[in-house]
Amino acid sequence: MAEPVFNRVLIKLSGEALMGPLDYGTDPGTVGRIADQVKEVHDRGVEIGIVLGAGNIFRGLSAAADGMDRATGDYMGMLAIVLNALTLQDALEKRGVHTRVQSAITISEVAEPYIRRRAMRHLEKKRVVIFAAGTGNPFFSSDTAAALRAVEMHAEILLMAKNGVDGIYTADPRKDPDAEFIAEITAKEALQRDLRVMDQTAFALCMENKLNIRVFDMADDSNINRIISGDRVGTLVTT
Ligand code: UDP
Repeated sequence: MAEPVFNRVLIKLSGEALMGPLDYGTDPGTVGRIADQVKEVHDRGVEIGIVLGAGNIFRGLSAAADGMDRATGDYMGMLAIVLNALTLQDALEKRGVHTRVQSAITISEVAEPYIRRRAMRHLEKKRVVIFAAGTGNPFFSSDTAAALRAVEMHAEILLMAKNGVDGIYTADPRKDPDAEFIAEITAKEALQRDLRVMDQTAFALCMENKLNIRVFDMADDSNINRIISGDRVGTLVTT
């Protein structure tokens, strides 16, 4: 197998990635497959941070739409991310991968608090660090948390896992049959053409800090490993 082209990566997994065929919650088989993929890359010596979302359980915005205070809904969303983090941690540890969950909201009985230098140390010691509870702030997204942690950890690339779409297209491929796949694009052009890679706050962070993003489909079990080998999987957004 080729030498890994990255030493340290940050993987963003949306909550939906854990849902598999379900309409809600977590599918143990799907979580197991994700853990297998992470383990494969970890076994190659790559340092891995993971940021999770919680769309499979709770979204602050939807709660706000139903009349709940947005900040309250967002805090609930961040707590839901902690549930996902523990689920993934369990699956990874069952496979013998050492992990630490660091939470942006202090919840010391179940996870370490987020401490940047400590997280860096875990990564150096080849522990997979799962960053839970987003940024710890309402009105932000887990995409922003992913960009933030990737920049803080000096990750070489942000790997944005998507479900059922294999990269960026000129239009939504599920709605527009003429949508064309884009293999590589600059962040500037993606912005100009209004191609939604992630929310604007997250995108701005990546651009300001020259963090490249690779958008790929999580459904193909070989993708993360191939990206680590330097294969051109999905769309590369260069900054
Ligand atoms: N959230 C937040 N601040 C953050 C990250 C997340 O308030 O820094 C909340 C927000 O309510 C969001 C929920 O957590 O809806 C779950 O995150 P997200 O919707 O980004 O998850 P994904 O779409 O990736 O599954």
